[in-house]
Amino acid sequence: MIIVMRKDATEDDLNQILAKIREWGLKANVIRGSERMVVGVIGDEAVIRNKPLEAFPGVEQVMPVLKPYKLVSREWHPESSEVVVGKNHAVKDKAVFGGRRVVVVAGPCSVENRGMLLDMAKTVREAGGRLLRAGAFKPRTSPYAFQGLGLEGLRHLDEARRLTGLPIVTEVLDPRDVELLAETADMMQVGARNMQNFILLKAVGRTECPVLLKRGLANTIEELLMSAEYIMSQGNPNVVLCERGIRTFEKFTRNTVDISAIPVLKRESHLPVIVDPSHGTGHWDLVEPLAMAAVAAGADGVMVEIHPNPEEALSDGPQALLPERFAHMMRALESVARAVGRTL
Ligand code: PEP
Ligand code: MN
Repeated sequence: MIIVMRKDATEDDLNQILAKIREWGLKANVIRGSERMVVGVIGDEAVIRNKPLEAFPGVEQVMPVLKPYKLVSREWHPESSEVVVGKNHAVKDKAVFGGRRVVVVAGPCSVENRGMLLDMAKTVREAGGRLLRAGAFKPRTSPYAFQGLGLEGLRHLDEARRLTGLPIVTEVLDPRDVELLAETADMMQVGARNMQNFILLKAVGRTECPVLLKRGLANTIEELLMSAEYIMSQGNPNVVLCERGIRTFEKFTRNTVDISAIPVLKRESHLPVIVDPSHGTGHWDLVEPLAMAAVAAGADGVMVEIHPNPEEALSDGPQALLPERFAHMMRALESVARAVGRTL
């Protein structure tokens, strides 16, 4: 249920309602807009419906939220949200998802070794990328494939952050690692395979660390929004949604990038939306055109994989951009961003 307060409602009016909501065993979420305050009430719909919310002083209107996702919906929060990333003191410029600026996240699929990561971090910085991303813990289809460097990888990421001042994002696979990663990383990625790992979603939701939530290989847009709701329901509002391609019958590409997911997600939710054309296509030569399409369709950012020597990559080599191709993509994105009234 959403309670829209009158323009002239006072703090006392608000506090009176909040106290009652708590007394009824329901949860309240206050949104302070530029014009008026809105209170979202969450809990048993049957209990809420029977309460005389309209009767309270300062209340203008009470509306039900019809969508199954509440906190992530635009009904609930009409203004677009911004998610700020870069809490670590070594970060020079915080990245803001959901603003006018299109945010580019880039890095190698995995942290393979110290030298390569530092080298790629500099490449990201020099080409204008805003965040460095690399996996220390890797979810691999085969148990015999490279699983990531683990804690050693995190140490290299920390060094890369100190060297470049870029915020770092890395994937969390295990709820037991959430506390550590929420401390060390500036943003945690929940990968496609874990989009419906509800224990993990709740665990990252109990932190304040921004979460990059990727759409599952075979999940609907509504399911992605429900997973974001899991995170937000635990108190963490810092969620960025990522379209990374879904599995279809098409074989030329690793997945099919669902461009229509961008405007649908932007319409349904106030959360920022980014696109990963690397996993979305699986081929380096398709990354730039799909990145351009994503920005043209209204994405708030793009996430791509890069590698100095893709033939020797320990994971996802075929989709990795060489540094000079990454720089080329950045120039292409700059023009598209300008054409749609944004900057890079
Ligand atoms: C990744 O980002 O490297 C990754 C494994 O992605 P996804 O979860 O989208 O497959
Ligand atoms: Mn990858």
